[in-house]
Amino acid sequence: MLEEVRNPAVSPERASGVLEINLEGLVANWRQLRKRVAPAACAAVVKADAYGTGLTEAGKALAAAGCDTFFVAVPSEGVALRAKCPSATIYVLNGLAMGLAELYLAHRLRPVLGSLAEIREWQAALGAADNDGSAALHVDTGMNRLGLSLAEFASLMSASSKAALGFAPSLVMSHFVMADNPDHPLNARQIRDFAQARALCPDIPASLANSSGIFLARDARHDLARPGYALFGGNPTPGRENPMRDVVTLKVPIVQLRVIQNGETVGYDAQWTAPGQRRIATLSAGYADGYPRGGTVTDARRESGAPIAEAIIAGKRCPFAGRVSMDLITVDVTGLPEDAVKPGDPAILIGEGLSLDEVGQRADTIGYEILTRLGRRFERVYRR
Ligand SMILES: *Cc1c(COP(=O)(O)O)cnc(C)c1O
Repeated sequence: MLEEVRNPAVSPERASGVLEINLEGLVANWRQLRKRVAPAACAAVVKADAYGTGLTEAGKALAAAGCDTFFVAVPSEGVALRAKCPSATIYVLNGLAMGLAELYLAHRLRPVLGSLAEIREWQAALGAADNDGSAALHVDTGMNRLGLSLAEFASLMSASSKAALGFAPSLVMSHFVMADNPDHPLNARQIRDFAQARALCPDIPASLANSSGIFLARDARHDLARPGYALFGGNPTPGRENPMRDVVTLKVPIVQLRVIQNGETVGYDAQWTAPGQRRIATLSAGYADGYPRGGTVTDARRESGAPIAEAIIAGKRCPFAGRVSMDLITVDVTGLPEDAVKPGDPAILIGEGLSLDEVGQRADTIGYEILTRLGRRFERVYRR
């Protein structure tokens, strides 16, 4: 079914472009991963406004498909999701923000407790609360951002400390450093260390795998997978064919077309010089919309043979020319037949063969950053 839900926050007349979010693809991706990890369960990581696709719509679609466990990064995201998903289990990855335990309890948000200080704060808040205090424990196995050390966790899981905990941990988890690089020995070390931690509390469900982790060895899966990026169409197996469906398409209009002569430059700082007569299309999108300035194509970059940013116009890939500016992008469309394009026609910046990962690589960043930065100026159209 192809029912559209339009975002009323941006009126179409004012939009600089249209961001299409295919909720059917999102749900299909979640189902595919759930099948792959079975008999483990599959959660959905919907932090950062569901990776830029919209927490409300993405959360509702996933919950309707049967996803009952979500991970957000910060409490405000949890509160917003709770309003749409009254019965879901919601974990807050960044832990228990100091002073906010009451808020977590009021909205039934489960903190992913990652330090002894957070555990103490949670225990103190529970004393007075009518709540079982379900929370996750994060064990660090190498990321060194959040989480209890293996030694802290081991001492916490000793019989006496466990009895004194005052709440029953509902999940024990850790996070991969580079699961997208399956041959790196750090993966095996993290899998081994987490298995050791987990052996100290075999009765608590465990979770280790993010999107790419799901595609590592079977012993990375445990009881609950935590994919984010792959749900939204990112490739969890870089360098191999993407098993996921596209979710996001970004179309922006061509504002103007012009012909420039040999030696003329395009854009700020005169970084791109026409190597002959060229036809330039100017697109209505820029870094203010979250398209990275790293997509800039200078003469040096063009000549270096490095991958350069592209747009699909009239079915053909066309290279960027010059700086990505705040609200505009210039593209060399000399390769198209003259009557193939006119102002108002769409240029595709993401989707229809231009993958998130490729867009990221061509702009010196990663697909994750492309997705999560896509701004609010686009009209969002949800398809399901
Ligand atoms: C963001 C995040 C995930 C999801 O990672 P993807 O690579 O997007 O699948 C899982 N676990 C933790 C702890 C995270 O921070």
